[in-house]
Amino acid sequence: MEDYDFLFKIVLIGNAGVGKTCLVRRFTQGLFPPGQGATIGVDFMIKTVEINGEKVKLQIWDTAGQERFRSITQSYYRSANALILTYDITCEESFRCLPEWLREIEQYASNKVITVLVGNKIDLAERREVSQQRAEEFSEAQDMYYLETSAKESDNVEKLFLDLACRLISEA
Ligand code: GDP
Ligand code: MG
Repeated sequence: MEDYDFLFKIVLIGNAGVGKTCLVRRFTQGLFPPGQGATIGVDFMIKTVEINGEKVKLQIWDTAGQERFRSITQSYYRSANALILTYDITCEESFRCLPEWLREIEQYASNKVITVLVGNKIDLAERREVSQQRAEEFSEAQDMYYLETSAKESDNVEKLFLDLACRLISEA
């Protein structure tokens, strides 16, 4: 007998520096690492959550900086059930790169993958460069879910992963 009812692979993508590692750390360990040292030296982290009495094991994949060199490979996307496509609301450039990431998704990910668009760092609202409306329009056009988070303040991070788990169950 397995110790879970569902197992899902969730993969984080998006430009370097947008806060992917911090989101994973916040969700799996309840920590916000200050400054450097945010790199997790393993391929993935596991967290098991309970949803409507079902044990859902989430295998969450983070890059170890490969995105800096645009060297994320097909194997990273393989068998992903969900993708968290992250940008930084204070960094226009990270938003402008989203179409490039979508091309990678189309190329490498399963056509059944669920993608969530995440605008991170909402605690830095005074430095916002990407409006909520722009992101909403973009995510609607691409048929993605959309959520804004702060890994630092723990805003919407739990909700991001739990909502995703619910959707994955309902489509499993
Ligand atoms: P990654 O390259 O996408 O994995 O990004 P990291 O998780 O390493 O974070 C990059 C930088 O952004 C680090 O200096 C983090 O401390 C900072 N950071 C990440 N998330 C947040 C956030 O929600 N708010 C703020 N203010 N800073 C954040
Ligand atoms: Mg990282």
